[in-house]
Amino acid sequence: MNGVNGSPAAPTPWASLAEPPLQLPGTIQPHGVLLVLDRAADTILQVSQNAHIHMGMSASQLAGAPLTTLLSPTQIEAIRQAVPPPLARPIPLPVTVTTGAGPLACDGFLHQTATALVLELEPTIATAPVNFLSIHGLVRQTLDRMQQAESSCVLLQLVVDAVRQLTGYDRVLICQFDLQGAGEIIAEAKQPDLASFLGQRFPATDVPTAVKESYASGKLRAIPHIQAEPVSLFPSQHPPTGDPLDLSRAVLRSSAPCAVTYYTNMGVAAALVLSLCQAQRLWGLVSCHHTTPKPLSYETRAACELIAQMAASELANKLRQEDLKQRTKLSALRSELITSITQASNLIDALIQPEERLLTLVAASGAAICLGHELTLIGTTPSADQIRALIQWADQHITEPLFHTACLSHAYAEAEAYKATASGLLLLRISRIQHYLILWFRPEVIQSINWAGNPETGIQIDEDGQMQLGPRTSFALWRETVYATALPWQPFEISGAIDLRNAIVGIVLNKADELGRLNQELQHSNRELTAFAYAAAHDLKEPLRGIYNYANILLEDYSAVLDEEGGEYLLEIQAFTQRMETLINALLRVAQLRQTQVKRQRIDLNPLLAEAVAIVRASRPEAPFELRLPRPLPSIHCDPTLINEVFRNLISNAIKYHDGPEKWVEVGYHDREVSQRDRAHQAPESERIFYIRDNGIGIQAEHFDDVFKLFKRLHPQERYGDGAGVGLAIVNQIIERHGGRIWVESTPKQGSTFYFTLTQPY
Ligand code: ADP
Repeated sequence: MNGVNGSPAAPTPWASLAEPPLQLPGTIQPHGVLLVLDRAADTILQVSQNAHIHMGMSASQLAGAPLTTLLSPTQIEAIRQAVPPPLARPIPLPVTVTTGAGPLACDGFLHQTATALVLELEPTIATAPVNFLSIHGLVRQTLDRMQQAESSCVLLQLVVDAVRQLTGYDRVLICQFDLQGAGEIIAEAKQPDLASFLGQRFPATDVPTAVKESYASGKLRAIPHIQAEPVSLFPSQHPPTGDPLDLSRAVLRSSAPCAVTYYTNMGVAAALVLSLCQAQRLWGLVSCHHTTPKPLSYETRAACELIAQMAASELANKLRQEDLKQRTKLSALRSELITSITQASNLIDALIQPEERLLTLVAASGAAICLGHELTLIGTTPSADQIRALIQWADQHITEPLFHTACLSHAYAEAEAYKATASGLLLLRISRIQHYLILWFRPEVIQSINWAGNPETGIQIDEDGQMQLGPRTSFALWRETVYATALPWQPFEISGAIDLRNAIVGIVLNKADELGRLNQELQHSNRELTAFAYAAAHDLKEPLRGIYNYANILLEDYSAVLDEEGGEYLLEIQAFTQRMETLINALLRVAQLRQTQVKRQRIDLNPLLAEAVAIVRASRPEAPFELRLPRPLPSIHCDPTLINEVFRNLISNAIKYHDGPEKWVEVGYHDREVSQRDRAHQAPESERIFYIRDNGIGIQAEHFDDVFKLFKRLHPQERYGDGAGVGLAIVNQIIERHGGRIWVESTPKQGSTFYFTLTQPY
């Protein structure tokens, strides 16, 4: 049987267990004899039909006969003493049967049903000769090694190796059941020429719940010859009740026909299955297969069972340790991540550098981080658009801060389109207001498992026309079960995500609080500073005016007593006070501007410019200039008073910082600026870029940024007039208040161009 990709089809290792209903096959395996005794162990009530083969007496002879027909009084007394309580597992005891051909040594198994005693006898000659010492040595060695095994993997490998060595079977597997009951083969020992089944998975439906429950109570099942003809009991009805006997605890119980077909199809002729239980739950099974019939002695089976039991208890420790190790690792990872978030100025960098950290935290294969409008994807995820739509859906439908599902398309049908990458979703909402979310994704299980089955073949119909589970049918079912389903999110992964959320919320809130506080402080100090500057400027102006006036009085009324030098000093004093007043006025304007509200309206800039030019011309009649206007200016959304001030300042500077006779000023605009400087600024589409160009003295490149600073002048006072070094600072502030930017390009001696942008909200 070949599966997809030509790899061998995997058997369901516990196929023999799928045999409903468990307690009523009514038949036993032929390698032993089953006797049903009355509760006092006096009379044989029923006996298997193969009694004559092993004991030389027919079932009809034995049924109803006293037990002394087969056993000595001492042996019968030993049996009476050994009877286990009802519902307990069969207890082993050595039994010697008296037959016509002489004594027959058997391994006996005795248990009690509700109405009778059941004594099963396996002639020891049927099993291979056993060397107790070699079995004991191997068991001891295995148990010692199991205690030292550094991981559960190593431990389980020791188990399969030892069980294979003990049984001599071709293949020994361990399959583990997940919480949903699906199985995965996690350890294997086999003949070298057999193909491996390691890593293959099987659906939960392969092991009926009744079987799981029976194995959870610790059970061993041996079928030394699968194809052997089952044997019925005589009489077929159990005498006290008239019903078929409950054989659910019988060691010799035969297998259901579908299980026999199943094994036969797989080429398996003998099987042994042992349970691995954890806290009363069936954690897994050790399943042994052989290609030819192979009886195992009771000692061998018991040794295997002992190893399985020890492994189960040792496994509990190992799994606890590994779980703890994993949790410690995850919690260290989480702490590391939280530390990064606390220290980093940028939340996204802290989250995704390195990317694996965020994914390992919850064993995801991809993640999306949404911070406001910003979406960052790492690992394997659906597309950004698909994730945006998913977030939109989550915004409307998920109110809890944490949502997780292993089957996203059940909750959100659109996810069907990307089930391969995101059947599992763990969504963490950090802030609804700020729209901060982290989404982790897991792929569909079917994509992520190593499966070699072929769903198209192998449906088995039994004699009654009923469809039976076969390996291939199982696959079809499995596919259906896990369609669009990811591996489930583990509780500790979910709690880890919640911890992360709490930490981020704390940090983000703290940062927001801190920012808010700083903002408040800043606003407060800004207000105070402005008020102070305002008051200081006002208060300064008064004494200044006093100084000026007194200097004037001295000049006018005391000119007779002043010599020429004294008069000049007084004039100097007046010039200084005037300069001081200019500076104070500039300061006042800057302070005022901070508090001025920008009142935007749609304004035709042409009359605004004309007005500004007229003012400049009037204030500098000595410096005529040509106004160049390549095309009329547009209408724009702005505060006309403030933009008028911008034009006045820039045009006035263009005229002022000029040495030549022919002065001109060009005022224009670009819809999209093309200069290098602008490219660096990456002007968005909606911006208009205005410029004011002159043929003046120009500015050296190292001062391009300085000129916009308050009180920054590039020339001594006596050159180029009465500047206070404030004009460009004011212009800068006005443009910024409009949401624009300003910069200069210039070549000394050739002129300068001042650019500023104004955004277009419509
Ligand atoms: P001021 O009030 O002194 O003119 P500004 O803030 O307007 O101050 O300008 C700062 C400095 O930038 C000026 O002192 C001048 O040196 C330089 N500057 C401004 N505009 C121009 C220009 N169009 N050409 C050359 N230099 C200029």
